[in-house]
Amino acid sequence: MSGSLRPVRLARRRSGAKTNGTAGPVTEVTAPRRRFDARRLDPRRWSLWQAPRRVVVAVLLVEVLAVALSLAVARLEPIGPTDWRTLGLLSLGLAVHVEIARGIERRREVVADGQPYIELKSVWSFAGLFLLPVGLALVLVVVTFAYWWLRVSQRPVPHRWTYSAATVLIASVAAWAVLELVPGGLQTTVSGPLGLLVLVAAGLTRWTVNHGLVVFMICLSVPGTPWWKRLGSPTDTLIGLGALALGAALAVVAMATPWLLPVLLVPVMGMHRGFLLQQFARAAKTDPKTGLANATAWRDQADRELARLRRRGGEMGVIMVDLDAFKAINDRHGHLVGDAVLRAVADTLRAEVRPYDVVGRFGGEEFVVLLAEADLDQVAGTAERLRRSISECEVAISATLGGGTVSGLTASIGTASYPRTSHDLDGLMVHADAALYAAKHGGRNRVECAPPRP
Ligand code: GH3
Ligand code: MG
Ligand code: MG
Repeated sequence: MSGSLRPVRLARRRSGAKTNGTAGPVTEVTAPRRRFDARRLDPRRWSLWQAPRRVVVAVLLVEVLAVALSLAVARLEPIGPTDWRTLGLLSLGLAVHVEIARGIERRREVVADGQPYIELKSVWSFAGLFLLPVGLALVLVVVTFAYWWLRVSQRPVPHRWTYSAATVLIASVAAWAVLELVPGGLQTTVSGPLGLLVLVAAGLTRWTVNHGLVVFMICLSVPGTPWWKRLGSPTDTLIGLGALALGAALAVVAMATPWLLPVLLVPVMGMHRGFLLQQFARAAKTDPKTGLANATAWRDQADRELARLRRRGGEMGVIMVDLDAFKAINDRHGHLVGDAVLRAVADTLRAEVRPYDVVGRFGGEEFVVLLAEADLDQVAGTAERLRRSISECEVAISATLGGGTVSGLTASIGTASYPRTSHDLDGLMVHADAALYAAKHGGRNRVECAPPRP
């Protein structure tokens, strides 16, 4: 963004980047989305109310704040007839953008579950902060979310969307306020180093407020993972800031010639697809159902850890987890509920181990955990803790799928340790697997540790 900001007349406002993400307050099962179901919008049906009280309170506070702030600033700038035309053009650009990117975005949304979901539709609402009176710019934020909800989201959870929209509204108002602090500044002209500075400050404000509120809610909903693990990768940050820069450029060009907007759609889409390469690379390593490392990625990481230990010395453990009688859960509640149980178990495993341990989905209802720097006793202790946590796991089922809660889960667990049980990964896996089967034959819901070599 920046340098090319020549003395262009700025009709209205500006602002910053954008990151928009969602948290997962409770493990929740929803039916696959086929067509729009207005009943989903009924707040009484929202799974939010089953979330811990701290989550409900925080969500409501943020949403009330968003509405209050929006109402407070909405009328501060007069709205003229051309503003409605600009709003229409930006909405059209957004719609075309979303329609072209829809298939890929659906995939990205699933992969991003539990992490801030970075996307590029913010290009339009960001540009709106430059081109529209603040009231209409906030309307564009709402339009953006509504359109996305209708056309992209496959597992829409309304309270997540209202929360995400609230964070963007607050972030937009904050960015707008930053710009308002500058006397004259960008309000009349975007030019020179001061213009750039103000633009960056507003952009960073929007990005930080939005991202901060999203990460805050994820940490509140899924305690256990350190906040820095929820921040997203540096590339995600770059994408968020890239959307900011793109939105700024779009606004500046559109101010000069609004009819250039369709032309600008081409580079927007080009960049958008470029960003997706990284997403694909990540997707190739991730199990889409649980968000854990898939078997290949887990093995790669385990190989690397093993190579490191061979060089420097140390111990590590491998834990294999197989849910007991999982088929019965599918048979009783259906496969969608079964999938949610898998997600809940995955979250539980992740929450119970240290950030640098690696949890993977090995296959169907089998998980595998790599415990770095752990001796035989620590491996056994962790395995027992995992078994207990799984047995305490409760999965809420949405009303659409019959309601109620799945509980009473159990798992059989086998462990093996490097270098005590085996010196190579295949050996560790074979021993952990044999121990797991011993646990099954021993009556299930138990941990068996492969004995150390003589
Ligand atoms: P055991 O205690 O002996 O492990 O019994 P089990 O029923 O857990 O094991 P079994 O191997 O008989 O069945 C595993 C079931 O897991 C059968 C399969 O339908 C189910 N499954 C595998 N992958 C998935 C999945 O991705 N989603 C769902 N919902 N079910 C799955
Ligand atoms: Mg199995
Ligand atoms: Mg099983």
